[in-house]
Amino acid sequence: MRFRDKVVVITGGGSGIGAATARRFHQLGAIVVIADRSEERGTNFAAELGAGRAHYRCVDVADWAQVEGLIQDVHATFGGLDILVNNAGIGSLATTADIVIEEWQRVIDVDLNGVFYGCRAALPIMRAQGHGVIVNTASASGLAGDYGFAAYNAAKGAVVNFTRAAAVDHAADGIRVNAVCPGPVGTAIMKSIEGIPGAVEAWQERVPMGRFAEPEEIAGVIAFLASDDASFMTGANVAVDGGLTAHSGQPN
Ligand code: NAD
Repeated sequence: MRFRDKVVVITGGGSGIGAATARRFHQLGAIVVIADRSEERGTNFAAELGAGRAHYRCVDVADWAQVEGLIQDVHATFGGLDILVNNAGIGSLATTADIVIEEWQRVIDVDLNGVFYGCRAALPIMRAQGHGVIVNTASASGLAGDYGFAAYNAAKGAVVNFTRAAAVDHAADGIRVNAVCPGPVGTAIMKSIEGIPGAVEAWQERVPMGRFAEPEEIAGVIAFLASDDASFMTGANVAVDGGLTAHSGQPN
């Protein structure tokens, strides 16, 4: 019951890493708000967790007005906002020379601006409360470049440094801001590479631990960063990647 009665908002909470994170916080006693643009998934998942302590809110994180409305609604309904997990994200598979401008823009809007909007909406509330914790889902793709991930690399790399900036800005307000940087996780976002013959095996070979993560392995680190065990951590970008970004690329 480490998070008993804490109010936790998780964007992209309807699927994958976000759903595993919602489940973890729910198990540990939190009041969980699953904020996702997919209404069907979010509603069903909140009902599955149930017992009045899991709630669904529809939001497109790329829309400032919607994100601001979400955070204000949560604050008004539950009387506070203790933890925000900015996790919603989309993938993109196109090289720098080929990416369509609209796709670049959408990836930046969701994966970067969505994180900023969440922070911008939550930070004044957390500052007024005198406490709050934010965990952003960045990526190992924010720490190094990938083939064919230009927009995603740009957005996630920006989330990594934005996390540091927000942490520095608000450390004196009693607010901690950290990020997780997952390596490959077997979720819906990876479907685009699953269609390419041999791609999954090639990715797994690049990970020193030789496999993809389970969403729960990322959720556990998010919960740790949100907990008092991480009370002296802010501005950190924690790689949860089976050694992927520790590897120099030297062949074995
Ligand atoms: P997922 O596709 O299973 O879940 C993403 C969720 O975000 C979905 O429920 C989706 O409906 C929601 N979402 C997408 N766009 C949204 C928007 N504009 N507004 C609100 N909700 C939106 O994928 P996942 O792997 O669980 O991804 C979660 C986060 O983890 C993303 O930020 C992703 O970039 C990051 N990540 C994933 C991996 C991986 O390999 N799966 C690796 C590193 C980082």
